[in-house]
Amino acid sequence: MDLILERDGPWCVWCSAPLDASPGALNPPTTEHMVPRIKGGPSWIENELAACRRCNNERGHQTLAGWLQDCRGLGRAPRTDVVIAGLERLQAAITERGGLRRARPYIASQLRRLRRM
Ligand SMILES: [Zn+2]
Repeated sequence: MDLILERDGPWCVWCSAPLDASPGALNPPTTEHMVPRIKGGPSWIENELAACRRCNNERGHQTLAGWLQDCRGLGRAPRTDVVIAGLERLQAAITERGGLRRARPYIASQLRRLRRM
């Protein structure tokens, strides 16, 4: 988690709330998987973003673009640029390492939608 917060900054990707990884903190970060396991998402750091517990729980099985739109509707401030950069990083990692055939079309379609948002 420390690496994710260092990479993306210490804010929830869905609502921009500050996240605090120190023990006993009020708003601890949780790991958000961009491509969910059920869609073939890997347990790589490139598939992970930091989110607050509330946003992570509420996303459920929503797609990235669908949930990002919902967050805007709820008056939250999603970090669209961080999600797009994350997906591009994941796409590059997959190209380099191979595999994950099932996740590729999902990533490509989510990127197309997010870039229009
Ligand atoms: Zn949040």
